[in-house]
Amino acid sequence: MKPTNQAIPSKCTVLIIGGGPAGSSAATLLTQSGIDAVVLEKANFPRNQVGESLIPHFWQFADLLGVTDKIQQEGFVVKSGGLVAWNDKVHHIKFSEYGYTRPGLHVERDIFDNLLLDHAESCGAVVFNQVAVKQVDFADANQPKVHYLDKRGDANVEGVIACHYVIDASGHSSFLAGQFGSRQIIDSSLNFLSLWGYYKNALYVGADRQSHTIAHLKTIAPVTFVMSYADCWIWHIVLREKTSVGLVVHTDQTKGMDKAQREAFFKHTCANVPHLKHLLAEAEFIEGSLEFRPDYSYYSTRICSENYYCIGDAA
Ligand SMILES: Cc1cc2nc3c(=O)[nH]c(=O)nc-3n(C[C@H](O)[C@H](O)[C@H](O)COP(=O)(O)OP(=O)(O)OC[C@H]3O[C@@H](n4cnc5c(N)ncnc54)[C@H](O)[C@@H]3O)c2cc1C
Repeated sequence: MKPTNQAIPSKCTVLIIGGGPAGSSAATLLTQSGIDAVVLEKANFPRNQVGESLIPHFWQFADLLGVTDKIQQEGFVVKSGGLVAWNDKVHHIKFSEYGYTRPGLHVERDIFDNLLLDHAESCGAVVFNQVAVKQVDFADANQPKVHYLDKRGDANVEGVIACHYVIDASGHSSFLAGQFGSRQIIDSSLNFLSLWGYYKNALYVGADRQSHTIAHLKTIAPVTFVMSYADCWIWHIVLREKTSVGLVVHTDQTKGMDKAQREAFFKHTCANVPHLKHLLAEAEFIEGSLEFRPDYSYYSTRICSENYYCIGDAA
């Protein structure tokens, strides 16, 4: 995204909260249909996000958005499937055996999401980074008022946009569900937390089920490697210059840990998981790269009405 000092309009037809894949896709489709859309994104893109493994199904949405060529030109890692080692059983998932003729991808989410948002902008959507939605006033059902905080530059400027329709694509923070008090936890037994970080020079698992250095990425397609271990499971997703390694545990397992303790727990676990420890034996952890995401098993009891719709992870 290019930084913009453009003034935020006082009205629009559709106001989209969040510029992740859901928000940018909605913005592209709306503008391609001749409906003006404004996207308010609180982060400063490119921003990182969890979720780097894309199955081939996603191409049909890329085609619909008209963004396929741009994705192909970016040169993301092309993968052939997945290798899942779960409770001592190994499942080798080959996309070609499921009727797919196109590959899956491993994408750096900062680059991928930015590409989608740039595409929305090139289709005519008006996009503002560093502008956070603070409240949506639905008192006038025909014209919701979206209150925002513009954090571009040094100033924090409050403002309001009147629109006809609000799309909440705010992701995990599920903005409208928070405002309505309609966010529900699915089941406390699904109360998982994910810790993930990045390694340099890790080996990856190829379609031939052998480990390889990333020098072979273009000749031996990788798979996404997933494995259960004790009370948790891990993912290993090789990217172009680093490898994303994630650990999914029940929230109770890290309860009370501070940042340093979570990092120590993550590194210790990764160093002990069979197979993964081999892939990481010569790798270096990228300091400061550990992120975590709690509470992602939720839903909202209110996802749409005459003047709003919640999409993507916000739903
Ligand atoms: C542990 C884990 C692993 C995952 N792995 C995968 C995977 O391998 N493959 C896959 O396809 N998916 C994966 N996912 C799912 C994937 O991350 C999400 O489905 C996807 O990012 C959702 O896109 P989105 O656009 O709905 O939300 P996001 O990508 O979260 O985008 C929402 C945007 O809204 C912005 N925003 C939030 N609040 C406001 C506000 N008030 N005002 C303005 N902007 C706001 C945020 O800054 C953000 O940029 C995973 C999820 C988890 C939790």
